[in-house]
Amino acid sequence: MPGFEIFGEEERKEVQEVLDTGVLFRYGFDAARKGRWKARDFETELATRLGTAHCHLCASGTAALHVALAACGIGAGDEVIVPPFTFVATFEAVLAAGAVPVFAEIDATLGLDPALLSNYLTPRTKAVIVVHMCGAMARIDEIAAFCQARGLMLIEDTCQSVGASFRGKALGTFGQMGCFSFDPVKTITCGEGGAVVTDDDRRYALAHAYADHGHDHIGNDRGAESHPMIGYNYRISELNAAVGLAQLRKLDAILNTQRAHKAALKAALAKFPRISFRQLPDPEGDSATFLTFMLPDENSARQAAHDLNAGGADGCFYYYDNNWHYLRNWHHLQQMKSPARLPAQLCGHCPDYSRVTLPRSDAIIARTVAMQIKLGWRQADVAQRIAAIQKVFSS
Ligand SMILES: *Cc1c(COP(=O)(O)O)cnc(C)c1O
Repeated sequence: MPGFEIFGEEERKEVQEVLDTGVLFRYGFDAARKGRWKARDFETELATRLGTAHCHLCASGTAALHVALAACGIGAGDEVIVPPFTFVATFEAVLAAGAVPVFAEIDATLGLDPALLSNYLTPRTKAVIVVHMCGAMARIDEIAAFCQARGLMLIEDTCQSVGASFRGKALGTFGQMGCFSFDPVKTITCGEGGAVVTDDDRRYALAHAYADHGHDHIGNDRGAESHPMIGYNYRISELNAAVGLAQLRKLDAILNTQRAHKAALKAALAKFPRISFRQLPDPEGDSATFLTFMLPDENSARQAAHDLNAGGADGCFYYYDNNWHYLRNWHHLQQMKSPARLPAQLCGHCPDYSRVTLPRSDAIIARTVAMQIKLGWRQADVAQRIAAIQKVFSS
């Protein structure tokens, strides 16, 4: 998965071009920057690639989620349905917006189960954040239809799935806003960075302003711009954007490599009837950053992850036990530990997260192992992993 494995001359050239001008800021300094606009170019190229009207880069994927929520009008006391299997940033962004995360069950796609979403609706529900985990899609068509029928905003957390699609349409383009991350371990990286995408001109303008202190970006004199709204500084720098621009141009090569490695490993695993695979609503659209599979029960999954990591197939995650990606071990959230009181705690209807139970999600994540697909593997590395798979599951 990680783009940092393939830094080369392309990244260096883009960064050098920025350093040569001395302009690290994404706005203004028109004469000094000699026509170099790395953030802007990245936005144009990503929007084109995804087939969406607008893209705005941010400082991180977390910032992108916060910006998307704001641009969708989500604020104090609003409820936002989110999955319990995601990176902590998803609920952090909801809390930062002043809203209340409401956790809903996932299904065998590892994304929100559309059939159960209606169980979580209240008069305060304003939005759903669907997360496309581990490189591939949730049941995005059904979830989008659900939201549309009820007038709910749909935000896609596509931070782990850039380049993935569902029936030919890019993930991140099904709802009102899509969010991406280019943090140090993502498929393409800026060092730190993120993006929001949308087809909606008004939401794009809101997102753009919100991510830069509410500036309207009209005219060329930053000092004379007005502030139609309150915003924050969630900007990306030209240096980060320059790295990302070079990485984005490698995305097709990255996807091809990942898909080839994954197919070889999946074929090796498929020989063992004990193993089943994560459901992919459209296998063609999988970005193949992970090979995610299920064992029959919790103990055998935990053991398999351990044995694979120890036996020559390192990079296998057992999310049920880690404390970044699954609600069960988010003790800080369960206890609402925060340096300052959170708006959600004042609204009178914030759940006690230590009491939230999601038995279906537990039953899925407890049996799930995810094997990270690396770009730098040679044939011998893939062969070593296939040998490890055979050893671990034949015994
Ligand atoms: C990485 C990630 C984020 C946050 O991105 P950052 O750029 O690290 O802030 C959000 N959601 C998911 C699912 C992620 O994997």
